[in-house]
Amino acid sequence: MRARIDEAEAEILAMALGTSVERIIDFARRGGLRVMGFRGLKYYALRRGFAGFEEGTSIFIHNGGFVVVPGYPAIKRMLLLDKAIPRWFKDRVIVEEKMNGYNVRVTSVGGRIVAITRGGLVCPYTTTRLERMYGARLRELFSEYDEIVLAGEVVGLENPYTRYYYPEAPRFDYFVFDVFVKGRISRLKMRDELVEKYGLRRVPILAETSKDDIEGIRRVVSRLEQQGREGIVVKDPEYRVPPLKYTTSRTNISDIRTGMRFFFEEGRSFLFSRVLREIFKLFEEGVIGNKVYTRAVDLGLAILEPAIETVHMVSKGKPVLDEFELVFTNQEELQEFIDYMSQLGIDLIVSSQVETRDGIRVKMAKPKDTWIEVKRILETGLSPLD
Ligand code: ATP
Ligand code: MG
Repeated sequence: MRARIDEAEAEILAMALGTSVERIIDFARRGGLRVMGFRGLKYYALRRGFAGFEEGTSIFIHNGGFVVVPGYPAIKRMLLLDKAIPRWFKDRVIVEEKMNGYNVRVTSVGGRIVAITRGGLVCPYTTTRLERMYGARLRELFSEYDEIVLAGEVVGLENPYTRYYYPEAPRFDYFVFDVFVKGRISRLKMRDELVEKYGLRRVPILAETSKDDIEGIRRVVSRLEQQGREGIVVKDPEYRVPPLKYTTSRTNISDIRTGMRFFFEEGRSFLFSRVLREIFKLFEEGVIGNKVYTRAVDLGLAILEPAIETVHMVSKGKPVLDEFELVFTNQEELQEFIDYMSQLGIDLIVSSQVETRDGIRVKMAKPKDTWIEVKRILETGLSPLD
């Protein structure tokens, strides 16, 4: 929802973001602020970068004051490891695993734990599951340290956003990868100490080496490639320069396969970026001429197979849905999540509910626009593109 903002609240936001009331009001008028509520807590989320704050920054209004949760910055991508790493970094680097889930910042506002997704919105489902797993430890951490925000990846299959199977976290878990202290990302040592002290989990560190050890870093990547894991994020231990990311071929191609099931949505934007990554990967690996054939077949199948399957489904009158299973403690929680998604313009379809030992297991789905587009093509025989 676009925020309409009164003078008093604009003043709080101006203070929170270190800017003027006029700029806040102007930014709100241009649709830059989203206003939301979470269990009685009111907050704003930045739709775009503003006043030096990242997109996805949230500002909670609390007790006449505020709590700012900084947005997580975008990480630049490498295409050529041997060029990028020595030029970008200073001396030592930490090579971390890049885990494939969704970005969640966790903090406490007025004694309450909140789990915030990339866009700056509190996800009620993620908040409750994290509460149940780590509530006591998180509360302890946030009561002992002021102005701390954890940034990490939620991975596993039981979530509404990104589902990849991890043997060490098959259903749902949280892996910290950074810690904000008073609005800035801290040195990695501080993160590691906090994770250790409060019994949290951290993304695996795969190597600590020199920025010139490209061979070593390549070995790490090829191991991940074999294990079918996503990739790496390379960081300066002191955060003197921002991190860089790199993903395996397997991930680039499986992203395409996942995206092309809904080819008018994810598929469209996914395709070129992933192909670009593969072009430079093949170049870097020295694959040339008819040796490109194998990779080209994998890529071609990843593009066409899921898309054709989708067209067949629609032609048989079946809907195109993104399906998943979530676990809730009770009906109120389920309803709260459905209402939250509907506020974001997503009307979930619930197909079944089963009572289990650990809660109500609910099968649900997001309808996809690709369905409508394909239906129209099958009816008219005409392309919506050129
Ligand atoms: P962007 O390009 O804006 O960073 P994206 O959604 O395209 O966002 P990804 O390609 O997944 O992002 O890469 C960045 C994301 O990787 C981070 O936002 C974070 O959620 C995730 N991530 C996983 N492991 C790590 C890690 N070890 N360190 C930092 N980020 C990590
Ligand atoms: Mg990701």
